[in-house]
Amino acid sequence: MSLGYRYVGPPDIAARARHEPAGRAIRSGADFLSWYAGADHRDPLFTYVVTVDGVLRVAPRRSEHVACAAGADVLAAGEIGFAADGRVVEVTNQSTGYCPDPSCWPAVAAALDAAGLTHPGGFTSEFVFRHCPSCGHLNLIKDDDYTCAICGAALA
Ligand SMILES: [Zn+2]
Repeated sequence: MSLGYRYVGPPDIAARARHEPAGRAIRSGADFLSWYAGADHRDPLFTYVVTVDGVLRVAPRRSEHVACAAGADVLAAGEIGFAADGRVVEVTNQSTGYCPDPSCWPAVAAALDAAGLTHPGGFTSEFVFRHCPSCGHLNLIKDDDYTCAICGAALA
């Protein structure tokens, strides 16, 4: 039984991810400040996951979510941006590796609250993903159009 989302992206990316370090665990304001001081800020957004034990892990944006999560299931995944004081200014559920539903927000909020990081109270951008049951294409749902962009099949 899985508590959260399993990796559903390409197997070769998961295989490569086994050789990359997991994301940095942020359990407190001190964890955040120490990580943030050494982080590369050329890109203001970072990859994040919330692990099944409710811990926020962050990594450079070029990192795959599956690497950030060390290949494990997650409660949430997406991209996140911070102000220098730890305030979360941007947070999304954009992860094509895990395709988390926007309903995963409470897990994100709980992990941020646990680390003492203030947040906007919801995703700043929400994404809905559906794999096509017919052709397997990963669709990003726009305007409530639940049909596959490749083959036109209905998406559940
Ligand atoms: Zn399709």
